[in-house]
Amino acid sequence: MSYNAIVIGAGVAGLAGSIRLAAKGFSVTVFEKNSYPGGKLSHFEQDGYSFDAGPSLFTQPHLLEELFAAAGKQLKDYLNYESVPFACHYFYPNGTRFKAPANPTELAKTLEEHLGESSEVVLNYLQKANQLYNQTGHIFLEHSLHRKETVRNINWRDALKPIQLAHLFKSMHQYNTSTFKNPQTVQLFNRYATYNGSNPYQAPAMLTMIPHLEINEGTFYPKGGMISITKALYKLATELGVVFEFETPVESIIHSEGKAKGIVANQKNYFADVVVSNMDAYFTYKNLLKRDRKAANILKQERSSSALIFYWGIRQSFSELGLHNIFFTENYQKEFNALFVSKQLYNDPTIYINITSKMEEGVHAPENHENWFVMINAPANVGQNWEELKKQARNNILVKLKQMLGTDLEPLIATEAILDPVTIESKTSSYQGSLYGTSSNSKWAAFLRHPNAAPKIKNLYLAGGSVHPGGGIPLCLQSAKITTKLISQDYHLKG
Ligand SMILES: Cc1cc2nc3c(=O)[nH]c(=O)nc-3n(C[C@H](O)[C@H](O)[C@H](O)COP(=O)(O)OP(=O)(O)OC[C@H]3O[C@@H](n4cnc5c(N)ncnc54)[C@H](O)[C@@H]3O)c2cc1C
Repeated sequence: MSYNAIVIGAGVAGLAGSIRLAAKGFSVTVFEKNSYPGGKLSHFEQDGYSFDAGPSLFTQPHLLEELFAAAGKQLKDYLNYESVPFACHYFYPNGTRFKAPANPTELAKTLEEHLGESSEVVLNYLQKANQLYNQTGHIFLEHSLHRKETVRNINWRDALKPIQLAHLFKSMHQYNTSTFKNPQTVQLFNRYATYNGSNPYQAPAMLTMIPHLEINEGTFYPKGGMISITKALYKLATELGVVFEFETPVESIIHSEGKAKGIVANQKNYFADVVVSNMDAYFTYKNLLKRDRKAANILKQERSSSALIFYWGIRQSFSELGLHNIFFTENYQKEFNALFVSKQLYNDPTIYINITSKMEEGVHAPENHENWFVMINAPANVGQNWEELKKQARNNILVKLKQMLGTDLEPLIATEAILDPVTIESKTSSYQGSLYGTSSNSKWAAFLRHPNAAPKIKNLYLAGGSVHPGGGIPLCLQSAKITTKLISQDYHLKG
């Protein structure tokens, strides 16, 4: 028997989900409100410069390899990527600066040399991160936690072995402080909480598994920039017969007697056996299902942080910078308090700069120019005065970079575009402009994300950053995989 599926949204999880369903024989139509695929994983060009609009860090390419293999294809025929030797170029306010290798032994040596940190301590920390990820993390990231049969089949004894009380009852910051002697090493490892939009002073030490991905497994660069990932997914989906309806926002999900039956778009009904929403879970309930109570319930989970990004075409090349660069704040705790407690921007922000023209000179920017993606963490949008905050932030960033790089950047900015939490929300319907759905600040967060199948509406499934297992490209790919597995079980499909 052949089934048909409707996917709402062409974000990374919508694309991956449509590929997996098509590979299982479903006829799939994706409805996307924008005129392009990718959602947050999109890009734009301006005045001869090319910018990835959202994600810039690419880890775990094996998840893409596996997705393509599930569709009978090889990733290399769609996407070229290479390993990046340095995870990040770090700059501290006291003048300390170094390149952090994306390799445990090399990183340990570098931290010993520049921060006086024992390389043995660093290696031991990374080894624990490895165990936590491989024994515990993958259980949470690869399975639905909301189906009895899955939960029953998990080997919990093995999964829980590497967890120490400290991982549950200490914050990431407390754990890092009790491990490292130099506060600058603590700051470096605290930063990994931002990889899922969380606060290291609140989030449980379980998140110390995150550096495993970047340092032990490595970081990668897709040729052509991050947009090449979207292009590869979109190409494969269309080859598998997935139909895309762009500029077609879904207005509601048709459901009756506890079953989803299709969607309404352009005031027309489209029926399907299965509906997968890649739209933020909150907006799925609020706008498409008109279930205000359920939507309000979702809001009990704190949203992840958002971001403010300045895309600058820079008329100069900076030899001290690499693909990923961090300029730390003097006081990380105050910065996170501003973001998560006062919901404001911090006036001495940690600045992240991504420059893809470092990897492909002359392709993303004119010769000897650079394409700078300058990002600071921002609070979720709760109605702050963003016009004012953007002006202040721009000024603070320019002053800080002038101090730390010794160059006045203002006259070097050839072109500029800005993305703020309000535009992140309006472009991708991500509630409050959060980058990663809900935060991981609570130790229960992993259990409290919305499941991949709607609990009370049959045939309705969810995939993407706002549902299990969370945000970021790797987790969104996992989310699509878990969702398709549930659909396969529910429809008694093979594999
Ligand atoms: C600035 C920024 C930096 C980031 N950095 C990184 C990084 O370095 N590494 C990393 O791994 N992750 C990063 N992330 C997070 C990552 O981008 C997201 O977690 C991931 O892309 C979200 O994918 P998704 O599948 O949830 O869909 P989204 O990208 O949220 O897309 C959802 C799609 O649904 C569509 N849609 C919504 N409502 C409707 C409707 N009613 N009808 C039709 N279509 C609809 C939207 O238009 C959109 O295309 C970053 C995000 C941002 C914004």
